[in-house]
Amino acid sequence: MSIITAKGKDAKASLNKKVEKIDFKKLYIRLKDGESCRVRLLSAEDYCEYLAHASYANGIYTQPCIKPIGEKCALCEASDLKAKGFDGLYAKKRYLFAFADIDMGEIRLFDATKGQAQQLIAGIEQYSEDLETVAFVFKRTGNKVETNYSLSPILRLKAEDKEKFGKFDGVTVEPEFFESGLQPRTRIQQIALLMQAGFPVAQTYAADEVKAAQAQIDEWEAAKNGGEGVKPIPKASEDDNPDSVF
Ligand SMILES: [Zn+2]
Repeated sequence: MSIITAKGKDAKASLNKKVEKIDFKKLYIRLKDGESCRVRLLSAEDYCEYLAHASYANGIYTQPCIKPIGEKCALCEASDLKAKGFDGLYAKKRYLFAFADIDMGEIRLFDATKGQAQQLIAGIEQYSEDLETVAFVFKRTGNKVETNYSLSPILRLKAEDKEKFGKFDGVTVEPEFFESGLQPRTRIQQIALLMQAGFPVAQTYAADEVKAAQAQIDEWEAAKNGGEGVKPIPKASEDDNPDSVF
């Protein structure tokens, strides 16, 4: 192992390589009540489970718990303190599905609660033998706790749609694809979010961490005012992810 990751020509190539920014709006399928999109399922197992924290009432949107990657998760610590108004913050299981959006021509992610995932998996399993030939309408119905997502087979595809469908022949979803959509925050960013939400951070975290979190907030503010900052995780609407589901 070396601390040098690229040398000479390779370093130059690496330097010039454009940093690919992920467009989370495109990456994630987000539907309103009654909206749908047409998808192809590339296998019966293109979904994964992860642990997420969220507290919509406090403006903390769904984000992965960082404990599984060996970090000290500030959101777990905050949740353990059972502070008033932050009781929904504990880590919950969520599920990411990868669907090929045949109209967009790209593989996209859908982030589901446990209940929504159970329904979707049941739907996928029902058609598992036909995934190579059948496209689906992925549709949302309802709001808040009544929100449902369904997959209904499209009985016949037009010739042009068959072509769109066929573009995904042989395409598979790699685990890294799910990882790229999850965007974990750093511990300091987590503390910054808690600080913005009014959580008593000074009593909970080390002074240098609180200081760094304040600096992070300043950086976010600067980015918001015209600077080019790191895009935050797309905001899931509250009714997509009601805490009460768990
Ligand atoms: Zn956590």
